[in-house]
Amino acid sequence: MNGDKPKLAMYWAASCGGCEIALANIHEAILEVDAHFDFMFCPCLLDTKKKDIEALPDGAIFLTLFNGALRTEENLEMAKLLRRKSQVLVAFGSCAATGGIPALANHHGIARVLETAFCDAPGIDNPERLIPGTSCQVPDGILQLPAFLNRVQAVHEAVRVDYSMPGCPPEPEQIIAVVRYVASGAPLPPAGSMIGCSDRAVCDECPREKRNKLAKRLIRPFEALPEPDWCLVEQGFSCLGSATRGGCLALCPSANMPCTSCYGPLDRTSDPGATALATLAAAVDPGSTAGMSETALHDRLTVALSGVADPLGTFYRYTLAETVVADRPTEVDQ
Ligand code: SF4
Repeated sequence: MNGDKPKLAMYWAASCGGCEIALANIHEAILEVDAHFDFMFCPCLLDTKKKDIEALPDGAIFLTLFNGALRTEENLEMAKLLRRKSQVLVAFGSCAATGGIPALANHHGIARVLETAFCDAPGIDNPERLIPGTSCQVPDGILQLPAFLNRVQAVHEAVRVDYSMPGCPPEPEQIIAVVRYVASGAPLPPAGSMIGCSDRAVCDECPREKRNKLAKRLIRPFEALPEPDWCLVEQGFSCLGSATRGGCLALCPSANMPCTSCYGPLDRTSDPGATALATLAAAVDPGSTAGMSETALHDRLTVALSGVADPLGTFYRYTLAETVVADRPTEVDQ
């Protein structure tokens, strides 16, 4: 550790590691990080121990980039520890900011999650259906694993968060911009701000042309090759760009992939998934339904919306921890 420069920490909780890869993808700009900060804690890059962090005075770390949602008691403990030791705590990436993909597990009870992961997932060979416990006696002592929390939480649900930086993962250019801004000594934005993103929608950054056409039905990405340059949602693909905060420069639509809304909703809303759903519903015209029987209407709409194979995973992919839906699990642990 270097005592002269402000301390910078990066921690991963329930995450895939993509946020760390995004940091690595700033390439030689990592030298700027080193020039301005004492990068002293990052479990996937550095060997600093938890006890080293515990030994610091409160507020000793200037900036912590906390990525990942809170899935386990260890995640929660580290969020509380780093909050105490940090002057500025950033919920870095979609999982930390809104629960992200790990929070999709909130739709199920913990037992079901463990059974899926260790017994039922394709490729698993576990005929005795053994599931790891939180404590295990071995010849050298007791091995312990952190227990699951009842539900996956966004970081702000457990500790105060100064800023949220969305993205799955945040774009490297946005990371560099944030690092440079902080290093410049400029006044920090108001607490609670979104940083490293735009106030405009992904559609505003997208090079694809809107032709004011409605799709007859939604289709899945494997069903057709999109026409280049034409708005994906107008071609029937489930692109959520108009409901999503920009800042990624529309990377996915530019590469023929519909926006999945990883930068989250444009404005904080009690139900981002409902907003996303409304966006897609407004993009489809299933044709005249005048005089149709209820059954025929149901069949028409089923075909029109069949391109959304997984509504929860489509509309709440990164935000389930934040919604009222999340508090109504379909299975309750006994
Ligand atoms: Fe681009 Fe998707 Fe918006 Fe269409 S809906 S303009 S493809 S981001």
